[in-house]
Amino acid sequence: MMGPAHSLSGATAWLGVGAAAAALDNPMPWPTLVVGALICAGAALAPDLDHKAATISRAFGPVSRALCEIIDKISYATYTATRSTADPRRSGGHRTLTHTWVWAVLLGGGCSAAAWWGGRWAVLAILFVHMVLALEGLLWKQARASSDILIWLLGATSAWMLADVLDSTENGKGWLFTDPSQHYLWIGLPIVLGALVHCIGDALTVSGCPILWPIPIGRKRWYPLGPPKFMRFRAGSWVEIKVLTPVFFLLGVAGAVGALNVLG
Ligand SMILES: [Zn+2]
Repeated sequence: MMGPAHSLSGATAWLGVGAAAAALDNPMPWPTLVVGALICAGAALAPDLDHKAATISRAFGPVSRALCEIIDKISYATYTATRSTADPRRSGGHRTLTHTWVWAVLLGGGCSAAAWWGGRWAVLAILFVHMVLALEGLLWKQARASSDILIWLLGATSAWMLADVLDSTENGKGWLFTDPSQHYLWIGLPIVLGALVHCIGDALTVSGCPILWPIPIGRKRWYPLGPPKFMRFRAGSWVEIKVLTPVFFLLGVAGAVGALNVLG
Protein backbone atom coordinates (compact mmCIF):
# COMPACT_ATOMS: atom_id res chain seq x y z
CA MET A 1 0.00 0.00 0.00
CA MET A 2 1.01 3.63 -0.35
CA GLY A 3 1.72 6.07 2.51
CA PRO A 4 -1.76 7.56 3.05
CA ALA A 5 -3.54 4.19 3.27
CA HIS A 6 -0.82 2.84 5.58
CA SER A 7 -1.02 5.74 8.02
CA LEU A 8 -4.81 5.85 8.02
CA SER A 9 -4.96 2.11 8.76
CA GLY A 10 -2.48 2.70 11.60
CA ALA A 11 -4.61 5.42 13.20
CA THR A 12 -7.70 3.24 12.78
CA ALA A 13 -6.01 0.28 14.45
CA TRP A 14 -5.15 2.31 17.55
CA LEU A 15 -8.69 3.73 17.76
CA GLY A 16 -9.84 0.09 17.61
CA VAL A 17 -7.54 -0.75 20.52
CA GLY A 18 -9.11 2.21 22.33
CA ALA A 19 -12.60 0.80 21.74
CA ALA A 20 -11.49 -2.65 22.93
CA ALA A 21 -9.85 -1.14 26.02
CA ALA A 22 -13.04 0.78 26.85
CA ALA A 23 -15.08 -2.42 26.44
CA LEU A 24 -12.66 -4.21 28.78
CA ASP A 25 -13.04 -1.49 31.43
CA ASN A 26 -9.59 -0.01 30.98
CA PRO A 27 -10.54 3.08 28.95
CA MET A 28 -7.88 5.37 27.52
CA PRO A 29 -7.93 8.99 28.59
CA TRP A 30 -8.46 11.08 25.42
CA PRO A 31 -4.83 12.24 25.15
CA THR A 32 -3.67 8.61 25.11
CA LEU A 33 -6.20 7.84 22.40
CA VAL A 34 -5.20 10.83 20.26
CA VAL A 35 -1.43 10.61 20.79
CA GLY A 36 -1.50 6.82 20.32
CA ALA A 37 -3.49 7.13 17.08
CA LEU A 38 -1.00 9.69 15.72
CA ILE A 39 2.02 7.61 16.79
CA CYS A 40 0.43 4.54 15.20
CA ALA A 41 -0.29 6.49 11.99
CA GLY A 42 3.39 7.49 11.86
CA ALA A 43 4.69 4.06 12.85
CA ALA A 44 2.67 2.52 10.03
CA LEU A 45 5.02 4.24 7.56
CA ALA A 46 8.23 3.16 9.30
CA PRO A 47 8.84 -0.30 7.73
CA ASP A 48 9.34 1.32 4.32
CA LEU A 49 12.58 2.86 5.58
CA ASP A 50 14.14 0.12 3.44
CA HIS A 51 12.99 1.83 0.22
CA LYS A 52 14.46 5.12 -0.90
CA ALA A 53 11.34 6.40 -2.64
CA ALA A 54 9.14 5.87 0.47
CA THR A 55 7.69 8.78 2.47
CA ILE A 56 9.74 7.98 5.56
CA SER A 57 13.03 7.91 3.64
CA ARG A 58 12.38 11.42 2.35
CA ALA A 59 10.76 12.83 5.51
CA PHE A 60 13.90 13.81 7.43
CA GLY A 61 16.17 14.98 4.62
CA PRO A 62 19.75 13.67 4.54
CA VAL A 63 19.31 11.92 7.94
CA SER A 64 16.55 9.61 6.76
CA ARG A 65 18.20 9.11 3.36
CA ALA A 66 21.41 7.93 5.04
CA LEU A 67 19.45 5.76 7.49
CA CYS A 68 17.53 4.26 4.57
CA GLU A 69 20.74 3.13 2.90
CA ILE A 70 22.00 1.54 6.11
CA ILE A 71 18.67 -0.22 6.76
CA ASP A 72 18.55 -1.48 3.18
CA LYS A 73 22.05 -2.97 3.54
CA ILE A 74 21.27 -4.59 6.92
CA SER A 75 17.99 -5.98 5.56
CA TYR A 76 19.67 -7.40 2.48
CA ALA A 77 22.46 -8.95 4.56
CA THR A 78 19.91 -10.51 6.94
CA TYR A 79 17.95 -11.89 4.02
CA THR A 80 20.98 -13.40 2.35
CA ALA A 81 22.29 -14.86 5.61
CA THR A 82 19.02 -16.49 6.66
CA ARG A 83 17.33 -17.49 3.39
CA SER A 84 16.75 -21.16 2.73
CA THR A 85 17.39 -22.68 -0.68
CA ALA A 86 13.66 -22.29 -1.41
CA ASP A 87 13.71 -18.51 -0.90
CA PRO A 88 14.51 -16.70 -4.14
CA ARG A 89 17.68 -14.64 -4.55
CA ARG A 90 17.10 -10.91 -4.48
CA SER A 91 18.97 -7.76 -5.28
CA GLY A 92 17.86 -5.39 -2.50
CA GLY A 93 16.47 -5.45 1.03
CA HIS A 94 12.99 -3.98 0.40
CA ARG A 95 10.15 -5.82 2.17
CA THR A 96 12.40 -8.10 4.18
CA LEU A 97 13.70 -7.44 7.71
CA THR A 98 11.67 -4.30 8.45
CA HIS A 99 8.51 -6.08 7.32
CA THR A 100 8.55 -8.76 10.04
CA TRP A 101 7.02 -9.14 13.50
CA VAL A 102 10.55 -9.35 14.93
CA TRP A 103 11.34 -5.85 13.69
CA ALA A 104 8.01 -4.51 14.98
CA VAL A 105 8.59 -5.91 18.47
CA LEU A 106 12.22 -4.76 18.63
CA LEU A 107 11.35 -1.23 17.51
CA GLY A 108 8.37 -0.89 19.87
CA GLY A 109 10.29 -2.45 22.76
CA GLY A 110 13.21 -0.12 22.07
CA CYS A 111 10.97 2.95 22.12
CA SER A 112 9.25 1.83 25.33
CA ALA A 113 12.63 1.31 26.97
CA ALA A 114 13.86 4.70 25.72
CA ALA A 115 10.75 6.48 27.04
CA TRP A 116 11.04 4.67 30.35
CA TRP A 117 14.74 5.46 30.81
CA GLY A 118 14.88 8.83 29.11
CA GLY A 119 11.62 10.32 30.41
CA ARG A 120 10.37 13.53 28.88
CA TRP A 121 13.16 14.08 26.33
CA ALA A 122 12.88 10.58 24.95
CA VAL A 123 9.09 10.95 24.75
CA LEU A 124 9.56 14.24 22.90
CA ALA A 125 11.95 12.64 20.41
CA ILE A 126 9.60 9.70 19.78
CA LEU A 127 6.66 12.09 19.40
CA PHE A 128 8.57 14.37 17.02
CA VAL A 129 9.52 11.56 14.63
CA HIS A 130 6.02 10.10 14.63
CA MET A 131 4.20 13.44 14.35
CA VAL A 132 6.24 14.36 11.26
CA LEU A 133 5.41 10.95 9.78
CA ALA A 134 1.73 11.24 10.71
CA LEU A 135 1.57 14.66 9.01
CA GLU A 136 3.29 13.24 5.91
CA GLY A 137 0.94 10.27 5.81
CA LEU A 138 -2.44 11.65 6.86
CA LEU A 139 -2.12 15.08 5.24
CA TRP A 140 0.01 13.93 2.32
CA LYS A 141 -1.50 16.34 -0.19
CA GLN A 142 -0.76 19.37 1.97
CA ALA A 143 2.61 17.95 3.06
CA ARG A 144 3.70 17.42 -0.56
CA ALA A 145 2.90 21.06 -1.31
CA SER A 146 4.76 22.55 1.66
CA SER A 147 8.43 22.67 2.58
CA ASP A 148 10.14 20.06 4.77
CA ILE A 149 11.11 22.71 7.29
CA LEU A 150 7.47 23.69 7.82
CA ILE A 151 6.52 20.04 8.44
CA TRP A 152 9.39 19.65 10.93
CA LEU A 153 8.31 22.81 12.76
CA LEU A 154 4.73 21.57 12.90
CA GLY A 155 5.95 18.17 14.08
CA ALA A 156 8.09 19.76 16.79
CA THR A 157 5.35 22.08 18.08
CA SER A 158 2.72 19.35 18.12
CA ALA A 159 5.16 16.98 19.85
CA TRP A 160 5.86 19.64 22.48
CA MET A 161 2.17 20.36 23.11
CA LEU A 162 1.12 16.72 23.18
CA ALA A 163 3.97 15.81 25.55
CA ASP A 164 2.66 18.51 27.91
CA VAL A 165 -0.92 17.28 27.69
CA LEU A 166 0.17 13.69 28.24
CA ASP A 167 2.35 14.52 31.21
CA SER A 168 -0.01 13.52 34.02
CA THR A 169 -1.40 10.22 35.20
CA GLU A 170 -5.04 11.20 34.49
CA ASN A 171 -4.08 12.15 30.94
CA GLY A 172 -2.42 8.89 30.25
CA LYS A 173 1.28 8.73 30.89
CA GLY A 174 0.41 5.81 33.16
CA TRP A 175 -2.24 4.17 30.98
CA LEU A 176 -2.30 0.35 31.22
CA PHE A 177 1.01 0.34 33.09
CA THR A 178 -0.19 2.14 36.19
CA ASP A 179 2.77 1.82 38.52
CA PRO A 180 4.74 5.13 38.74
CA SER A 181 7.90 3.26 37.71
CA GLN A 182 6.19 2.20 34.48
CA HIS A 183 5.21 5.59 33.08
CA TYR A 184 5.16 5.83 29.29
CA LEU A 185 5.80 2.11 28.82
CA TRP A 186 2.64 1.91 26.67
CA ILE A 187 4.21 4.19 24.07
CA GLY A 188 5.80 1.17 22.35
CA LEU A 189 2.38 -0.44 21.78
CA PRO A 190 1.18 1.88 18.98
CA ILE A 191 4.66 1.52 17.45
CA VAL A 192 4.46 -2.30 17.34
CA LEU A 193 0.86 -2.12 16.13
CA GLY A 194 1.68 0.43 13.42
CA ALA A 195 4.47 -1.75 12.01
CA LEU A 196 2.26 -4.87 12.07
CA VAL A 197 -0.62 -3.05 10.38
CA HIS A 198 1.83 -1.91 7.70
CA CYS A 199 2.88 -5.53 7.11
CA ILE A 200 -0.74 -6.70 6.90
CA GLY A 201 -1.45 -3.90 4.40
CA ASP A 202 1.50 -4.99 2.28
CA ALA A 203 0.43 -8.64 2.54
CA LEU A 204 -2.80 -7.67 0.73
CA THR A 205 -0.82 -6.52 -2.29
CA VAL A 206 0.45 -8.63 -5.15
CA SER A 207 3.90 -9.38 -3.72
CA GLY A 208 2.84 -10.36 -0.16
CA CYS A 209 4.88 -9.76 3.02
CA PRO A 210 7.23 -12.08 5.00
CA ILE A 211 5.65 -11.11 8.36
CA LEU A 212 6.46 -14.37 10.16
CA TRP A 213 10.23 -14.53 9.53
CA PRO A 214 12.20 -16.39 10.88
CA ILE A 215 9.43 -18.94 11.41
CA PRO A 216 9.57 -21.18 8.33
CA ILE A 217 6.48 -21.91 6.23
CA GLY A 218 6.97 -24.93 4.04
CA ARG A 219 10.59 -24.78 2.97
CA LYS A 220 10.70 -21.00 2.91
CA ARG A 221 11.95 -18.83 5.73
CA TRP A 222 10.89 -15.60 4.01
CA TYR A 223 7.48 -16.82 2.89
CA PRO A 224 5.54 -13.86 1.41
CA LEU A 225 2.32 -14.12 3.42
CA GLY A 226 -0.98 -12.94 1.93
CA PRO A 227 -4.56 -13.92 1.05
CA PRO A 228 -5.37 -16.00 -2.07
CA LYS A 229 -4.17 -14.28 -5.25
CA PHE A 230 -7.62 -13.12 -6.42
CA MET A 231 -8.08 -11.06 -3.23
CA ARG A 232 -4.87 -9.10 -3.71
CA PHE A 233 -4.49 -5.69 -5.32
CA ARG A 234 -1.70 -3.56 -6.71
CA ALA A 235 -0.23 -0.89 -4.40
CA GLY A 236 -1.88 2.46 -5.18
CA SER A 237 -4.70 0.87 -7.22
CA TRP A 238 -8.35 2.02 -7.16
CA VAL A 239 -9.24 -0.66 -4.60
CA GLU A 240 -6.84 0.95 -2.16
CA ILE A 241 -7.94 4.52 -2.82
CA LYS A 242 -11.69 4.11 -3.45
CA VAL A 243 -12.52 1.16 -1.18
CA LEU A 244 -9.95 0.56 1.55
CA THR A 245 -9.25 4.19 2.46
CA PRO A 246 -12.93 5.10 3.08
CA VAL A 247 -13.43 1.82 4.96
CA PHE A 248 -10.45 2.57 7.25
CA PHE A 249 -11.85 6.05 7.84
CA LEU A 250 -15.30 4.77 8.85
CA LEU A 251 -13.79 2.07 11.08
CA GLY A 252 -11.62 4.74 12.70
CA VAL A 253 -14.63 6.90 13.48
CA ALA A 254 -16.42 3.86 14.93
CA GLY A 255 -13.34 3.06 17.01
CA ALA A 256 -13.13 6.61 18.37
CA VAL A 257 -16.85 6.59 19.27
CA GLY A 258 -16.40 3.29 21.12
CA ALA A 259 -13.16 4.35 22.78
CA LEU A 260 -14.55 7.60 24.17
CA ASN A 261 -17.84 6.00 25.07
CA VAL A 262 -19.67 8.79 23.27
CA LEU A 263 -22.89 6.81 22.96
CA GLY A 264 -22.97 5.40 26.46
ZN1 LIG B 1 6.04 -1.77 3.03
